[in-house]
Amino acid sequence: MSVTDNYEVVKNKVNSAIKRAGRKEEEVTLIAVSKTKPVEMIRELYDHGVRDFGENKVQELVEKYDLLPKDIRWHLIGHLQTNKVKYIIDKVYLIHSVDSVKLAREISKEAMKHNKTVDILIEVNVSKEDSKFGVMEENLLDVLKEVALLPGICVRGLMTVAPYVVDAEENRRIFNKIYKLTVDIMQKNIDNTRVECLSMGMSGDYEVAIEEGATYIRVGTSIFGERNYKIV
Ligand SMILES: *Cc1c(COP(=O)(O)O)cnc(C)c1O
Repeated sequence: MSVTDNYEVVKNKVNSAIKRAGRKEEEVTLIAVSKTKPVEMIRELYDHGVRDFGENKVQELVEKYDLLPKDIRWHLIGHLQTNKVKYIIDKVYLIHSVDSVKLAREISKEAMKHNKTVDILIEVNVSKEDSKFGVMEENLLDVLKEVALLPGICVRGLMTVAPYVVDAEENRRIFNKIYKLTVDIMQKNIDNTRVECLSMGMSGDYEVAIEEGATYIRVGTSIFGERNYKIV
């Protein structure tokens, strides 16, 4: 199976999940997570019409950005260090992984230098795993209120990385919980904050995530195949 064939298989499952949930196709964006994978594979999908790609490392995103067409929408989905914000500020479409006010301040500062507004999501650690990045639920409102005051930043929603599970159903409760969080926050009407985007669901559980309200799903392995970290 080619990368394009895999993409089509995933896309069909995405569309079925959208129908099951009684949602609209345009509400859900499938992000092809291309981390560790070569630009040739990305180009194949690009030629197939795909424009949303996800990377988790700044250097890799910048290298691929330089080699590929400029209408690609690059999503940064991995942990971002403050000292690296400057390298991607004019290249990313959406930063999914903002996990502290400090990082948001740096993004704001760099965005102002470029005279632009950068869309971000706040990463929430819903599963409360120590190994995961993200703002704890109990601190979320305070973080949102502080970040909302920063110039050059627009909070568009929330992101979460659910635990790895064998049965996707095990993550349904987590996805539902974060969906409810967005509804609660919307009702609070924080200035400059529209939590209408929800980035959740990966190869193992994206269908459940869609059923529970995901607007961005991040799928790597099911499209590009297993990653081999040793050879990169
Ligand atoms: C790698 C990665 C994904 C994609 O994971 P797959 O299981 O390969 O689909 C999604 N989200 C984040 C944050 C990732 O780092």
